[in-house]
Amino acid sequence: MKQKICVAIETPCIKVIHEDCLSCGKNIEHPLCPNCIAKGFKQWIQQFPQDETKIRTKLDRFLKTHRYIDGKSKKCVACGKNNTYICPNCFVEYLYKLTKEAGLGIRAMSEFLFIFNFDFNHNGYSRELEVYGGY
Ligand SMILES: [Zn+2]
Ligand SMILES: [Zn+2]
Repeated sequence: MKQKICVAIETPCIKVIHEDCLSCGKNIEHPLCPNCIAKGFKQWIQQFPQDETKIRTKLDRFLKTHRYIDGKSKKCVACGKNNTYICPNCFVEYLYKLTKEAGLGIRAMSEFLFIFNFDFNHNGYSRELEVYGGY
């Protein structure tokens, strides 16, 4: 059995943890990683078979480009991995944009906001929910 040994020289073993959101630069108060949020989102878009692939491709590209930071960010409260490089607010905002671009319609948008309402401070996209009639 091979064992990985952390040698006496400490520098390579020290992990640089990025505490702040890559997008808004704020400290991530509710660390829920994009992978965990994306899991729920991918399930949700399954009900839109015509647009699913289109949205998924963009989303996967986003996750892939940020993979290099995986393991160096805040610990996710759901999966326990250190890959919360973006705060739920910013990530859901991104997903919201994807969904909007895909043109799924107002019903889908209000459902989206209802399910993925991570806008904890209610200062961003959740205002649009009110435009749609709110919940
Ligand atoms: Zn953020
Ligand atoms: Zn997670």
